[in-house]
Amino acid sequence: MDDDGLLEQLLADGEIEAMDRAYCPVHERVVAHALHTDGSQTCWDCLTHVKGPQ
Ligand SMILES: [Zn+2]
Repeated sequence: MDDDGLLEQLLADGEIEAMDRAYCPVHERVVAHALHTDGSQTCWDCLTHVKGPQ
């Protein structure tokens, strides 16, 4: 399974707005995340999906 390919596909489709560093509860540290257009975030490394800060 090519998870990086999935995220790159979402980026190409416009589902991902940008990349930024954010806190990942799995890594327990700040790592690169994909920022979705709805404000949620997906960890680029482990694909944990979290709602954006609100
Ligand atoms: Zn993570």
